[in-house]
Amino acid sequence: MRLIILVLIVVLSGLSSFGNSNYEAVYICRGKYSKKYHYDKYCRGLSNCSTDIYRVDREDAKRIGRTLCGWED
Ligand SMILES: [Zn+2]
Repeated sequence: MRLIILVLIVVLSGLSSFGNSNYEAVYICRGKYSKKYHYDKYCRGLSNCSTDIYRVDREDAKRIGRTLCGWED
């Protein structure tokens, strides 16, 4: 029984480190009305961005309330 628990712990920690390595860069605009993140730096949703375009982890973009740009799937 203890072995099964150990295996579970190893599997679960393996999965979470896999999650961490699943870094995905996205682009956001820091403009006042920006609420989206973009996979494409040259997306038309970013074309009228008034600030610099920032490259962030997708999870971080989500954490600050960003949702995927409507021009992308
Ligand atoms: Zn976009």
